[in-house]
Amino acid sequence: MTAAILKAAERSGTEIFSGDGAKAIWRNGDGCVGLVLQNEKVEAKWTIIAAGCFSATIEGIARYVPVRPAKGQMAALRADDLKMERVLWSERSIFVPRNDGRILAGATVEYAGFDKRTTAGGIEKILSAAIDLAPGLANARLEETWAGLASRFSGSPSILGPTDVDGLLIATGHFRSGILLAPITARLVREWITEQRVSADWDRFSPLRFPSATTDGASRAPA
Ligand SMILES: Cc1cc2nc3c(=O)[nH]c(=O)nc-3n(C[C@H](O)[C@H](O)[C@H](O)COP(=O)(O)OP(=O)(O)OC[C@H]3O[C@@H](n4cnc5c(N)ncnc54)[C@H](O)[C@@H]3O)c2cc1C
Repeated sequence: MTAAILKAAERSGTEIFSGDGAKAIWRNGDGCVGLVLQNEKVEAKWTIIAAGCFSATIEGIARYVPVRPAKGQMAALRADDLKMERVLWSERSIFVPRNDGRILAGATVEYAGFDKRTTAGGIEKILSAAIDLAPGLANARLEETWAGLASRFSGSPSILGPTDVDGLLIATGHFRSGILLAPITARLVREWITEQRVSADWDRFSPLRFPSATTDGASRAPA
């Protein structure tokens, strides 16, 4: 999906600054006029912070984004004698069959900071839950293990919308649904920027709903 988005962006004339992470938002008076990268500044009429669980590490953003990284470990299995055609859920695990014949099994939810290493305990948990649900997987080959970081904060939905800094929007906090939510996120942000209105009520996702977001500590949007 990332490759497809990059291709589409290139086709529409997007300039891409890769490998040079944003250090801070570039403030000018009441507004945000772009980003400060490691060695240069990029000017922009609109700035959208969509750096997942890393969003709060960009200077000027933490107060809108009280998220923490949620580590999810995964395992890829290949079973010659077991055919799985659809996604399967249980309370302890999820299986996602891939076109290349692998079955992805996951995932843990752990709070270990920005650590993306897999652990014996995490993988053991995934494999024992997988074999309990599908005993035929006991003979499967373990082809790969990895971990990803999702952005989470307790008990609330995504963080999406404009801030009290002119030209600055936030789009993060999607936890474990960020791939599914990418199209609607992109649509609402695009509508706001091009039409100054959105086709859905997004107040409850507002980055201003956190007391930390405003200088007087008052929430500006419904929780
Ligand atoms: C194990 C696991 C399984 C999941 N399964 C699903 C699923 O089945 N369906 C689903 O919908 N979602 C799933 N998710 C959740 C999904 O992956 C996330 O919700 C989604 O990736 C969030 O997208 P994002 O673009 O907001 O953040 P990310 O995908 O985290 O992307 C943020 C990007 O910002 C970049 N970045 C970080 N800091 C900076 C900086 N300072 N400057 C510039 N760029 C920066 C990062 O390099 C990264 O590329 C899963 C997550 C995990 C961990």
